Amino acid sequence: MRKAVALISGGLDSLLATRVILDQGIHVEGINFYTGFCVEGHTHAIRKQQQSKQKRNNALWVAEQLGIPLHIIDVVEEYKDVLLNPKHGYGANLNPCLDCKVFMVKKAKQWMEENNFDFIITGEVMGQRPMSQRKNTMPIVAKESEIFDRLVRPLCAQHLPETLPEREGWLDRSKLLSFHGRNRKPQIELAKQYGFIDYAQPAGGCCFLTNEQYSSKLTDLWTSRGERQYELDDIVLLKIGRHIRPKPGFKLIIGREEGENNFMNGYKKQLGYFEILSHMGPLALVDGKIMPEDRELAARIVARFSQGRDSEKVDLKYTDSHGISYFLTVDPFKSEEILPNWYL
Ligand code: SF4
Repeated sequence: MRKAVALISGGLDSLLATRVILDQGIHVEGINFYTGFCVEGHTHAIRKQQQSKQKRNNALWVAEQLGIPLHIIDVVEEYKDVLLNPKHGYGANLNPCLDCKVFMVKKAKQWMEENNFDFIITGEVMGQRPMSQRKNTMPIVAKESEIFDRLVRPLCAQHLPETLPEREGWLDRSKLLSFHGRNRKPQIELAKQYGFIDYAQPAGGCCFLTNEQYSSKLTDLWTSRGERQYELDDIVLLKIGRHIRPKPGFKLIIGREEGENNFMNGYKKQLGYFEILSHMGPLALVDGKIMPEDRELAARIVARFSQGRDSEKVDLKYTDSHGISYFLTVDPFKSEEILPNWYL
């Protein structure tokens, strides 16, 4: 039996693409790459506003729907070079989609060879995404990843040259599809035929790098540190809380709700933080270094987001990154005193 590895993002397209191939009697296993920027994962489950939705990892959910094994591979370190030095540049934000696709297919190829699989499947649809899924960029992925004609895009295969699995008769080309463009109706219709309901429909793509606000926070992080580098904790924290930079040297990350405060608690050993003592209020982490003369400024900002915002005085405790605590009593900032350009 021929074996294929499917790139599973957790969205509808990879679900359908894999199902189409399973229907042809191919053994398929899924692969999902964790870059740190994925919309999937634990941060998904943190915020209360999303609690109406079922908490789940969509890639695992897709694999479960298909009845296939899923291999989740951590590529956080290797992905840095893709993001920091994309040969093909960025999309509308900091999303290096074309380089990202090349990287993922290349990694999948390596896995395919190590595990004696025959070809790779992706859920790409020609014309669907402006950067990586155009007619002239799709061959780039196959070529630069060196997978060449062992890359099958079942949802739009009829628009593309024949691949090796089709030529060899492992796949019946007439049963592959001819989806095209941004219209999602054919996918939704096919999902209905297969009986897939409740699939994920991410608005802006599969990772945070397509998000304008997230990208500007990442740019700010690089500017403030004077170098384009990051660690996993940095990029995870960019997904959480309200980010306010009143001075170039430090930024406050203020929890917006209980779930975020709880998550941020885990960073108390690494970063300085403010806690409100006299009222209910958020936890605020400090990224960077607060000079003694700026402690009050920071405390007044944090106090603004507590239930003491209309009180004359709010008591706080600031603990620096060495674990030394300072007690402060401040009058909270009025919202108009927090300058718009401080918000990231
Ligand atoms: S949206 Fe993100 S994960 Fe998806 S191809 Fe673009 S950069 Fe890669």
